[in-house]
Amino acid sequence: MTQQVDTIFTNAFVLTMDNTMTQFSPGAVAVKGDSIVAVGMAEDITNEFTADETIDCGGKVLMPGLINAHTHVPMTLLRGLADDLRLDVWLMGYMMPVEREFVSPEFVRLGTLLACAEQIRSGVTTFNDMYYFEDDVAQAAADAGIRAVCGQTVMKFPAPDAASYEDSLQMAREFIQKWKDHPLIVPAVSPHAPYTCTAEILRATAELAKEFDVPLHTHLSETAFEVENMRNENGMPVIPYVKKQGLFEAKVIAAHCVHIDVGEIRTLQHAGAGVSHNPSSNLKLASGFAPVMKMLESGLNVGIGTDGPASNNDLDMFEEVRLAAFIAKAVTNDPTSLPASQALLMATRLGAQALHIGHLTGSVETGKRADLILVDVSPIHNAPSFKRASDNAYAQIVYASKSTDVTDVMVNGKWLMRDRQLLTLKEEELLSEANQIAHKIDAFLIEREQSVLSKLIALGGSSEGESFEVQVKVKLADIQPILHNLKDPDIEIVRQRHYHEHDVYFFFDDPAQGRLRYREDDFIDDAKGTISNTRARLTLIGQKREGRFEEVLLSRSRFLAPASQSLRFYREYFKPKSEITIEKDRLRWLINYKDTEFFVNLDQMKEPELGYYLEVKSRTWSRKDAELKAHLTTELLALLGASGGETVTEDYIDIVSEA
Ligand SMILES: [Zn+2]
Repeated sequence: MTQQVDTIFTNAFVLTMDNTMTQFSPGAVAVKGDSIVAVGMAEDITNEFTADETIDCGGKVLMPGLINAHTHVPMTLLRGLADDLRLDVWLMGYMMPVEREFVSPEFVRLGTLLACAEQIRSGVTTFNDMYYFEDDVAQAAADAGIRAVCGQTVMKFPAPDAASYEDSLQMAREFIQKWKDHPLIVPAVSPHAPYTCTAEILRATAELAKEFDVPLHTHLSETAFEVENMRNENGMPVIPYVKKQGLFEAKVIAAHCVHIDVGEIRTLQHAGAGVSHNPSSNLKLASGFAPVMKMLESGLNVGIGTDGPASNNDLDMFEEVRLAAFIAKAVTNDPTSLPASQALLMATRLGAQALHIGHLTGSVETGKRADLILVDVSPIHNAPSFKRASDNAYAQIVYASKSTDVTDVMVNGKWLMRDRQLLTLKEEELLSEANQIAHKIDAFLIEREQSVLSKLIALGGSSEGESFEVQVKVKLADIQPILHNLKDPDIEIVRQRHYHEHDVYFFFDDPAQGRLRYREDDFIDDAKGTISNTRARLTLIGQKREGRFEEVLLSRSRFLAPASQSLRFYREYFKPKSEITIEKDRLRWLINYKDTEFFVNLDQMKEPELGYYLEVKSRTWSRKDAELKAHLTTELLALLGASGGETVTEDYIDIVSEA
């Protein structure tokens, strides 16, 4: 009496990827409903079971579907948009501004469907995602029939789907409640990274993940820069810091973990955290080399991920597995490191364990879900075949197979691809919609790139208000008379400051764009002789002069933004034609003269060495008021005993250019 099942795969080379790495050749697998009910030698299975459908695999490799352990699937729509940039410029300068403008539920849905088509074609049956509008990612994945861990992003910045972190946390809660018991989707919460989240966000997301017993998916220790900043700000590396916030009380999936030491590996291992190693992304962004062998030796579940298709630029797990194996060998200077069998294990069973769904998928074993792929190992690039040792088969898959060799894909007992035909997705329609969106994004960026101002605004945080500035600058032979005249009874000193200013001016091909000043102010505490505070600002200075009143200049179009990124960031983002650096020591007084506030600056030019200058200035928001103030400025200059001197234009650029 034989048992009835739905499908029997027979005459296959079965790589089970189970605990003992069992292989069956010719092997067979019986599937009933959503699960695998038997695996074994073909003869035994066909004797024991009768199926509605029997597939003769013709000697193809039958193996568990690949697990893409870390990605951002909707970013298929941003693939190839901006490349060959550093992570911060790429992320803050391009991805986030475009995402703020374009990412919507429809965008996410289309991007996910495209990614599902690409992944099914390349033998991926499970992916672990993190993005915005994750509800739409989950719905699209479920519609495509693929398995996914879907993490709703939470971070401290406003996101395309949430104005605040509280909003995104609430979204994550509702998202988890909605998808909690879905057969294909595992909902998760995704605090983006420690550097885009506050300690409070990290704690709140860990609490949420614990409450519903769902994974917490985040980026940890991706770059040396991130670790250095963490050490500077919190006195410890990234892993201990997030541990302190209670992150590891949740089921963590940590993407990257490139810059971690042995102690941090131990912490991750004790916490039962999963890690996603993302070789292409780490190579392309020059993030460094993750200590993969050390992580595996410690018993950590390390999977392999493609990362988002905007930083890879594809979702090809075959390529990723091969790279993982090659890099491990090169980095350890040992060709026996990460053999093919172990690399493939990372992309299957270990990957599933890293996602905390090892009980469901990742190997061909009785009781697991039927997430199976067939790989044709007979093409010219993979011939001939050796059977001498069990490792030959893994080498064939890892070192010679291509994603296009995947012919058939089943997830949860349902066919998604038969003989290279996708059954749940219409590729032609998806491609045409993707091209329409690409066209709009192109137009948006072309317009933005034409103007320094719009590039500045795209970074966020800049005040777009225009102001008028009344100012005069005079060269001084001696500063003592000024210091003396500041004591005049008509001048009320509100406060006095001393600081060191480091200015870098960016110039552009088109002078009408104005010039951009990056200024770092070091406040000097004269009592202690130390730097008490440092701040950095960006100012876009318009080229236009509005007028001149005797010695006084009236200028406008100053757009201010806090400079939260490094000078290097702005240099790479704005790509100036040339630069000038100026350093000066500044004594600054805020004074009241005839009910009007003025700044009086006494500057010693240090770089280049140009001696002393006096600057008197006042800011105002209307032109009429500016004209009145211009008159007072002339008066004040006379009172300070500096009228009639050699006046120069603002910001020292002209003086420096002449020097
Ligand atoms: Zn990522």
